[in-house]
Amino acid sequence: MTTLTTQVAIIGGGPSGLLLSQLLNKAGIDTVILERATRDHVLSRIRAGILEWGTVELLREAGVDARMDKEGIPHDGCYLTDEELMVHIDFKGLTGKQVMVYGQTEVTTDLYNAQAAMGTTVLHEVSDVEIHDLDQAKSYVDFTHEGTRKRLECLYVAGCDGFHGVSRKTIPEEKRKEFERVYPFGWLGILSETPPVNDELIYSNSRHGFALASMRNENLVRYYVQVPLTDKVEDWSDQRFWDEFSRRIPSEAASRLVTGPSIEKSIAPLRSFVSEPLRWGNLFLVGDSAHIVPPTGAKGLNLAASDVYYLYTALIDAVKGKTSGIDEYSTRALARIWKAMRFSWQMTTMLHRFDGEDAFAEQMRKATLNHLATSETARRDLAENYIGLPF
Ligand SMILES: Cc1cc2nc3c(=O)[nH]c(=O)nc-3n(C[C@H](O)[C@H](O)[C@H](O)COP(=O)(O)OP(=O)(O)OC[C@H]3O[C@@H](n4cnc5c(N)ncnc54)[C@H](O)[C@@H]3O)c2cc1C
Repeated sequence: MTTLTTQVAIIGGGPSGLLLSQLLNKAGIDTVILERATRDHVLSRIRAGILEWGTVELLREAGVDARMDKEGIPHDGCYLTDEELMVHIDFKGLTGKQVMVYGQTEVTTDLYNAQAAMGTTVLHEVSDVEIHDLDQAKSYVDFTHEGTRKRLECLYVAGCDGFHGVSRKTIPEEKRKEFERVYPFGWLGILSETPPVNDELIYSNSRHGFALASMRNENLVRYYVQVPLTDKVEDWSDQRFWDEFSRRIPSEAASRLVTGPSIEKSIAPLRSFVSEPLRWGNLFLVGDSAHIVPPTGAKGLNLAASDVYYLYTALIDAVKGKTSGIDEYSTRALARIWKAMRFSWQMTTMLHRFDGEDAFAEQMRKATLNHLATSETARRDLAENYIGLPF
């Protein structure tokens, strides 16, 4: 069997794995990334689009800021609306901070390019990954690559392989505690090369259901509508999407809507999920392998970034023999994860219609929006969470 060695084996070459690898290599720590898919496949997944400022700073630290600073669009605020009210959340005025509109695909492209420039080993199309000896001084990962079974020996394993990966499941079931809420709807999203309907995001709670107007750049929009989980992408022609989206956003914005063909269309179910702990011996879970948030608070990618921050700083100390950081990793990361869980759940509850809900639930949503409209304290609280809690 071919045997490779490294200091940190990273399972998964999505945003978590790439960013962790980039930061560790910059600090002189050797990594190998094992990724199940091809690079093109990873880069074709249209997902997050909003970066908290902490994530922006971490990408700068990783040395992948040049294109982001040129092409990313800083946003000072967003709108929350129902059919009567349009509430502006002024992030900059309330917190002094902004967020950055820069797509996950762009972040991932920049990281792949930076990793290639650094000469890091990224193995694609690996399968049958098995993680062993997590309670020993050294661990190893067996996998199949180019038709051959191979072994990667390492000091630590970072499980960056998303919700469906193998890392979390390597922790014995009786040692894991899982928390989950599955929402009874999904988001149908389209990508279209058209100018944005508004210069800031609009989160809209209409009587027809939720809609989000977001963007990737000045001529690329990402728009969503809430749909039943039973809907399929084939049920939604472009025309049906535009008609539905247009009646869910405020009429003033709808009057500016420019429609065009979709270049991507997909439905994502909404889920809140946390698996504790994040550490099992030499294995550390990072990003979606340990937690999922509904996209309403724009937190998924940003939580992956804060996990990476806690872990990369801890691993730098650990290879020098100081283990307090890795000992505290799970507790530190989970404290921030649960706050983002709460915010994402609250935004989801405030902005969506739930099948079979009573009139009381609707009044609660209206009262929450009314409170935001009239209370600067409430708006500041929302802004503070949206721009991202410190890490
Ligand atoms: C459809 C969808 C839409 C989303 N929209 C938003 C959004 O609007 N805003 C937001 O903030 N967040 C959004 N998210 C969440 C955000 O994309 C994730 O939080 C982010 O991708 C997490 O990065 P990650 O690297 O931890 O996991 P992933 O991006 O899932 O990457 C994991 C990687 O591991 C690989 N892998 C899996 N199993 C194995 C294995 N056994 N062996 C080797 N490799 C493996 C996968 O191929 C993948 O490349 C969305 C997620 C989805 C699924």
